[in-house]
Amino acid sequence: MKNTQDNGLTRRSMIGGTGLLLAAGSAPVAASAATSQGTETKMDDPRTKYPKPPFRSQSQPFPGLASKMDPKPDHGETSYKGSGRLAGRKALITGGDSGMGRAAAIAFAREGADVAINYLPEEEEDAREVIDLIKKEGRVGVAIPGDLRHEETCNLIVSQAAKELGGLDILINNASRQQQKQSLAEITTEDFDATIKTNIYGMFWLTRAALAHLKEGSAIIQTTSEQAYDPSANLVDYAMTKAAMMNFTKSLAKQLAPKGIRVNGVAPGPIWTPLQVSGGATQEKLVSFGGDTPMGRPGQPAELASIYVQLAASDASYATGQVYGAAGGGGQP
Ligand code: NAD
Ligand code: MG
Repeated sequence: MKNTQDNGLTRRSMIGGTGLLLAAGSAPVAASAATSQGTETKMDDPRTKYPKPPFRSQSQPFPGLASKMDPKPDHGETSYKGSGRLAGRKALITGGDSGMGRAAAIAFAREGADVAINYLPEEEEDAREVIDLIKKEGRVGVAIPGDLRHEETCNLIVSQAAKELGGLDILINNASRQQQKQSLAEITTEDFDATIKTNIYGMFWLTRAALAHLKEGSAIIQTTSEQAYDPSANLVDYAMTKAAMMNFTKSLAKQLAPKGIRVNGVAPGPIWTPLQVSGGATQEKLVSFGGDTPMGRPGQPAELASIYVQLAASDASYATGQVYGAAGGGGQP
């Protein structure tokens, strides 16, 4: 790959609640009061909060850039508000340049965490925006481009993250490859290998390397999918990796609970991200994307950020081996 060393790393990379409390039967508290819970939060209608189909037909070469999507996805850039839930934590997020990974990276920084993101060299432009947002919060942001299909690269990503963050206590295995194919005959051995290497081997290599750094209280989170439970006909190779990621989450949770390390998963439904416009979905599906959910629209990455925060935060201490979903009323779990 261009600009990439043998190990797959690029050279330049080495680098509130509601405030209006009504006690039953008592007079309302003054509406303007900012209580210890914070000021009143805005009430959103989830049906109309974000764009609905039809969407413009659009496609980008894999892996795609969020900045070139129409409409641009919302990763919480202007909306996510932190409250110190992850103060001082050190997180590595794969696929942190765009989509759910970017939403988690922004939220984690605003919750007080230092964050390293991994991504492919072609995604430098998206990644730079994320690093700038992390630094704007006064947190450490580390950019580590590199291809997860290589074992040595995965090991180097973890060691660089731990070195530059001064430790590691959260790993989010979020990167994945999804390329839709109408028939099994169209899935080449190279396709199959790339999907399995990215989604399963990458997760395995990164997690194994990260365990040398994680201690009691640490958290591992996989982004799996509703596809793990109800696979689409044209996502055979991808969907099987999502089932594997879900299963890995549950076995590893059992193995690591005695060590005080929690392992959980997030299962999104249809979310408006570059993965979908760079070969993940047909143009026909894109135009009506998310329209078949009870909510009538796709989710935005920002709508899942708080799930990653919750699973990483220490007040979720009894949650391990769980998969939390967000799918607009459809899908599983
Ligand atoms: P995205 O395109 O923003 O993120 C996927 C990321 O994977 C890319 O940014 C890229 O950095 C990374 N990646 C792909 N191949 C790689 C490789 N070989 N080496 C290193 N990085 C690589 O899209 P997204 O939808 O936010 O995807 C994030 C996760 O969400 C994925 O695990 C995906 O399976 C899952 N998911 C997405 C949807 C959806 O509808 N968008 C639904 C369910 C699950
Ligand atoms: Mg990306």
